[in-house]
Amino acid sequence: MRVSIKQTGHDFLGRSTGYASLEIWTYNLRQGLTFHDSYLSTSQCSPQEPEDIESTGAALWAGSAITIGGAYTWTEVYQFAHEQNVIVVGGTCTGVGAIGGYLQGGGHSASMREFGIAADQVLEYTVVLANGEVVTANACANTDLFQALRGGGGGTYGVVINATIKAYPEMPVTAAILTIVPQDGNDDLATFLDAVATWYETTPMILEANLGGYAGWAAWDGDTLLAPKVRRLESAFGGFNRSIDNVQESMAPVVARLSSFNSKGMNVTAEYIAFPDYFTYFHEVHANSMDVGQSIIMSSRFLRSAQLADSTAVRQMVNVTAGFPGQNAFTVVGVNGGGAVALDVPNTAINPAWRESLVNNLVARNWPDTTPYPEVKAAQDDITYVKGASLELLAPDTGTYINEANYKDPNYLANFYGTTRPALEAIKQKYDPNDLFYCRTCIRSNYWYQEADGRLCYKDS
Ligand SMILES: Cc1cc2nc3c(=O)[nH]c(=O)nc-3n(C[C@H](O)[C@H](O)[C@H](O)COP(=O)(O)OP(=O)(O)OC[C@H]3O[C@@H](n4cnc5c(N)ncnc54)[C@H](O)[C@@H]3O)c2cc1C
Repeated sequence: MRVSIKQTGHDFLGRSTGYASLEIWTYNLRQGLTFHDSYLSTSQCSPQEPEDIESTGAALWAGSAITIGGAYTWTEVYQFAHEQNVIVVGGTCTGVGAIGGYLQGGGHSASMREFGIAADQVLEYTVVLANGEVVTANACANTDLFQALRGGGGGTYGVVINATIKAYPEMPVTAAILTIVPQDGNDDLATFLDAVATWYETTPMILEANLGGYAGWAAWDGDTLLAPKVRRLESAFGGFNRSIDNVQESMAPVVARLSSFNSKGMNVTAEYIAFPDYFTYFHEVHANSMDVGQSIIMSSRFLRSAQLADSTAVRQMVNVTAGFPGQNAFTVVGVNGGGAVALDVPNTAINPAWRESLVNNLVARNWPDTTPYPEVKAAQDDITYVKGASLELLAPDTGTYINEANYKDPNYLANFYGTTRPALEAIKQKYDPNDLFYCRTCIRSNYWYQEADGRLCYKDS
C-alpha cells in the first residue's frame, strides 16, 4: 500500500493525486494560528545556546514568528499576519496551502528578495513519520529531516502538521509597474519580441536596484490561466521602505533602455505607486488565484546573470516560447534573485542553482478539459521538447523549481534536485525506509513504477 498526502490539491505536477493510494487529506485539520512576539523553539533550540548558534546558524533568529497549526491557505495566514502588523514570506496564489507543498518545495514570493526563500523562513516543523511517531524537526532536533522539508519537496518524508515561520515588521512598499503593449493596430510580432528580450536583459539592473517582483507575457491572444490574455508584457516590482522618488530613480536606466521601443510601435509605460504596507501592495499588485484541477503543463528554468546578458540566446528563447496562435502559451517570470535569496542558509535542500540565479522563467500551456487526447499530448510534447528545451538550451547548467516544473521532464532528477539528491535520498530512507509515502517525481519515486492496474512495483533505479 502506498500513502499520498494532499492539502489543497493545487499541485501542478499531480503529486497530491492519490490514484491507487490511501490518501491523507489534511485540508480540515486545523489547530489555529499563533503569533509569537519572539521565538523559542520547543526543543529549546534558542539563540541563548552558543553551541547551537555555532553549529547551525539557523538558531540565530530572535524575531517574531507565526505557528501555522494545520492546513491553512496563504489567504488566511496573510490576514492573520496583517492583524499582527507583520509580513510573512508566502506565495502569490492565495488559495495555495501554507505548510504543504509550497513551503516544503521551496516557495517563491513577492517578498523573497528582501527576506529570503520561503523555506528559509521555517524555524520548526511538527511531523508525523511513516511509523506513526510525531517528531519536531528544527535546527537542533532531527536536523536532517528539517533540511529535507526546507526545499526537498512535500509528500515524501512525512506528514507535516504544523510549521513555525519567521515574521517581519510591516513596512511601506513602493511598486514600479512596467508594461510593454503594442500601439493600436500594430501587429508587428518581431518588434514586440525584441522588446520582451530587451526587458529580460534589464532584469539584472532591476535586481541590482534592490527591487524584486514578477512579470507575465504572452505573444498571442488566448485563454491563458496566469498571464495576460492578449499580446503584452506586464511586470511589477516592489521597493521595501522606499519612496516613489527613490524607486523611480532606480528604474530610470531600465525605462530609458526600453523607451527606444516607443518609436518602434510599442507603448512602454512605467507607473509608481506607494502603498502603506506590504499587505496592501501584495494584494493589489501580485495576488492571484486559480481553481484546482486545471489542465496545464509548464516548464521552468533558473537563469543566471550571464545567461540573461546573452542577447542572441535570450532572443532565441523568447522566439520559441512565444509559440503560435491557439496554443494558449504564456510565460511568468520571477524576478527576485540575489538579495536574501543568495544567502548560504544552513539546513535547507534548495537546489543550489536557485540561489545562484537571478530569474525563474516559467513557460506554460493550458487547455479546456474537453480537449481530445492527441491535442493534449501535442501540448505536453511542445512544452517538454520545444519550449522547455529552449529554456534548457539557454541555461543548461541550472535547474528547475520543483513546484512549477514539468511532470513529463525526462531529466527530472537532475533538473529538479541538482546536487541535493543523494542527501535527500538518504534522509528519505532513514525516515521512511519502506517508501510508504509516494508521489510522482518526488524523492525515491524513481525506484518504483506503476503497473497498468495501478500497483506500484519496485525497480533498482
Ligand atoms: C495559481 C497558483 C499560483 C502559485 N503561485 C506560487 C507562488 O507564488 N510561489 C510558489 O512557490 N509556488 C506557487 N505555486 C505552486 C505551489 O507552490 C504548488 O502548487 C504547491 O505544491 C501547492 O501546495 P499545496 O500543499 O497547496 O498543494 P497539494 O496539491 O495539496 O500538495 C502539494 C505537494 O505537497 C504535499 N503535501 C501537501 N500537504 C502536505 C503535508 N501536510 N505534509 C507533507 N506533504 C504535504 C503533497 O503530497 C504534494 O506532494 C502556485 C500554484 C498555483 C496553482
